[in-house]
Order: sequence, then C-alpha cells, then structure tokens
Amino acid sequence: LLSMREAAKTPGNSFRIHDSELQENVKRRAILRRGLVGITEREELFLALQPKVNLASGQVTSAEALIRWVHPELGFVSPADFIPLAESTGEITKLGRWVIQEATRLLLHKDMPRGFCLAVNVSILQFTDPELIPTVGRALKQLEGSGGTLEIEITESVVMEDTARVIQTVKELIRLGAKVALDDFGTGYSSLATVTQLPHHTLKLDKSFVDTITSDQRQATLVKAIIKASSLMGVELVAEGVETKAQCQLLRDFGCQLIQGYYFARPMKEDEFFCWISNYGHEPDLESLEKRLHARQNSASPG
Ligand code: C2E
Ligand code: MG
Ligand code: MG
Repeated sequence: LLSMREAAKTPGNSFRIHDSELQENVKRRAILRRGLVGITEREELFLALQPKVNLASGQVTSAEALIRWVHPELGFVSPADFIPLAESTGEITKLGRWVIQEATRLLLHKDMPRGFCLAVNVSILQFTDPELIPTVGRALKQLEGSGGTLEIEITESVVMEDTARVIQTVKELIRLGAKVALDDFGTGYSSLATVTQLPHHTLKLDKSFVDTITSDQRQATLVKAIIKASSLMGVELVAEGVETKAQCQLLRDFGCQLIQGYYFARPMKEDEFFCWISNYGHEPDLESLEKRLHARQNSASPG
C-alpha cells in the first residue's frame, strides 16, 4: 500500500525505490537466516533483564529475560525481527534451549537475590520440541535449593495447532515446578479462550492496553475488569510497557499487582541489572522507589 501511494506521488521511479528496498530486505533476511545457524555456539547472544515491580510493596523479586543478538555485520538485531525467522527455520529450538540454560546460570549467579523469579519467553513452536521438558527439568534440578524460580512465558506468535499437546506439556512443566505465564494477553492469539484452556499462574496484559488507559475511559474500564477477573481467578497480573507515572498510578488504583516498563527500568545487561537490583530492589515502598529512581534519572540524564 505504501509503495502504491508513493507511486501515485512520484510516478516513474517509485517502483525502482520499492524494488531496491525489497532487495535490501531480502538480503538482510538472508544474512540473518545464515547467522542463525549455529548461533548458540558463538558469543553473539545475551539475555537482557527487565525488572518487574510489585506495586503493593515497591519491591522487585522478579524480572523478564529478553534475548539480544549482536550480529557481527548488522549490529543489534531486534528479537521482533529474528525470533519469527528462527521460528520459520526451526532454529528456535536450539535458541530456546540456550535461553533456558542461560536464565538458569543467571538465577544461580552470586549477585542474584535469593528467591528471585526469572521469566523466559518460550515460543509456542518450542512446545513441539521433545527436549523442552527435559531441558526445563534439568534447569529446575540445578535450581533446587537456590530458592530461584523459572517462569515460562508462553508467546503465541503462531497459531497453536496441537492444543491438546500444548496443554499436556504446560501441565508437565507446572508439575516439574515451573511457573507459567501467558504473554501479550488481549492481543492476537492470546485470547480469552487461551485463558480458560491453558493452566497458568500469571497473565501479562499487553502494552497496547496500557498505552491508552489514561486517555480512553472504556479501555480503562476494560483493564480494571481484567485485573478484577484475574484476581478472582487467583492469577497474578503483570501490566506490560508501563511508561508513565499516570499509568502506574491508575494501574495501582485498579489493584494491579506487578508492572514492567520503561517507567521503572529498561531491559539491562547482566552487570547493570545486578547493580540496579542491589540499589533499588529493596525499597520500603513504591513511593520511595519512584523517588529514588526519579532522582537518579534527573541527575544522570541531562538531555
Ligand atoms: P514480550 O515478551 O512481550 O516482551 C516485552 C517487550 O516490550 C520487550 O521487547 C521489551 O523490551 C519491551 N518493553 C518493555 N517495557 C517497555 C516500555 O515501557 N515501552 C516499550 N515501548 N517497550 C517496552 P523486546 O525485548 O524487543 O522483545 C520483543 C519480543 O520478542 C518479546 O515480547 C517476545 O515476544 C520476543 N522475545 C524476546 N526474547 C525472546 C526469547 O528469548 N525467546 C522467544 N521465543 N521470544 C523472545
Ligand atoms: Mg514476554
Ligand atoms: Mg508481551
């Protein structure tokens, strides 16, 4: 559509522009696809950690691990770009195992607070990997006695095909001792039907709902109802992508338990994360956390 609009504006050469852009895209995807082969054996991946803040206590006892790829030629590549690619090439299986192992290492790190819960994203496609349960099983075994918990965030970028099998696998993961979260709730395939079908401990309310709660009354009412419903179901709710104080305040008024977003912290490299958590992870209450973070931001970022 975009290229058609451009074509209407500048007849003659717009198709060539479109063509070269398309070629660039195809080239980039080919490079990425090649780069994904055997990627876990090279040192190009790392997990960035983003804290989740408990609104009632102001404490931080959990975080989400988000994969990062620094490609030798292309530099930083977003997971939004390469995860779907890895899913289509099948490389997601190995990648997913690496993520679980790396999260386990981080949970066992000497600077990780005791009793911490780390969430990893698991693509619905990984549920066809016969190694998923053994991999999680080994991870939980390693974590035994450490007090650390592994949470599996189920991300549905593709349609769930063998629903019965996925449900079976989820039950097994829970039996082994993992926590389970449904990611991006309210969008795409993560629907009300999934909530009733898949057993889970946590719902992650998609950012798109949070974005408009302070400007759209109906959206705010809907979010309030979702928070109420999850509490009635005994499910923990995490609001994703909270960027402002106003959003944070409203979610707190609605009874939301946990929030994750740039308002408190961006995903951080491990060293930075451990530093952050030792500095801000144990505030007496939310006000004090907000105050200290704000003071830091004001003095640390002049522009
Ligand atoms: P997600 O699991 O829903 O993760 C949340 C995304 O929102 C992350 O993007 C995070 O950096 C971003 N985010 C957090 N707070 C804010 C905020 O306040 N504002 C804005 N604008 N964004 C915020 P990221 O890291 O680019 O990851 C994108 C998606 O890629 C993830 O969405 C997840 O679906 C997928 N992904 C990431 N890591 C992995 C992984 O290890 N395995 C799999 N299968 N998928 C992954
Ligand atoms: Mg997630
Ligand atoms: Mg999400």
